[in-house]
Amino acid sequence: MRVILLGAPGSGKGSVGERLREATGFPWISTGDLLREAVRDRTPLGLRAESQLGKGGLVDDETVLGLLRERLSRPDCRDGYILDGYPRNLEQAATLEKLDGDRPEIVFDIDAREDVVVRRLSSRRICPSCEAIYNTISKRPKKEGVCDVCGAALVQRTDDRAEIIPERMRTYRAKTEPLVSHYAARGTLHRIDANGTIEETVRPIQAVLDGLLTKGSRGGR
Ligand code: AMP
Repeated sequence: MRVILLGAPGSGKGSVGERLREATGFPWISTGDLLREAVRDRTPLGLRAESQLGKGGLVDDETVLGLLRERLSRPDCRDGYILDGYPRNLEQAATLEKLDGDRPEIVFDIDAREDVVVRRLSSRRICPSCEAIYNTISKRPKKEGVCDVCGAALVQRTDDRAEIIPERMRTYRAKTEPLVSHYAARGTLHRIDANGTIEETVRPIQAVLDGLLTKGSRGGR
């Protein structure tokens, strides 16, 4: 099975993905993480992505596809996977269909109001060393500005800065939001209210997935 998490930046796709990974055992694949990792490791695809990241627009489809194709070819994706941040435009949805079209697919639109997502993005802090994620409002580290896990100083992601957020929202509305009607038309879309806590957001998703997985699709790719 393929689980696709759609939603604006800051809607909580990452937190949902992490919970679903724990619950289903499927790997959680964030293309944003794949891109940041490739840039950090100075791989050929990372070098191509570097100048495009952090500005609020999309990285070119070919670069992202190169990273995703490699990730999906690993054995842990055989029974299923959770995609966070892919597809991000209609072309990528078509590419995914060509790449792995036989797999049953379910799509969740993680839907939060704009004031909620802007607040979440501007309060997010990350650990540059071990990649743990914090929030200055809802998930504060024990010691302010310091990672609980490894003790490194927390930083703000470049694209979480106030001056970049409006561009990310524009990109989302123009390029990614059309996917909501695309998947609704295919009958695979579930809209999820993501204005509340992570528990409130995950509960209905989990209920849908439990229903599907107990029907036996888990072993069926
Ligand atoms: P995220 O961590 O999902 O917020 O992604 C961070 C940034 O990575 C985005 O603002 C884009 O520039 C880039 N990115 C992530 N996923 C994709 C994708 N599927 N297609 C193009 N660019 C992407």
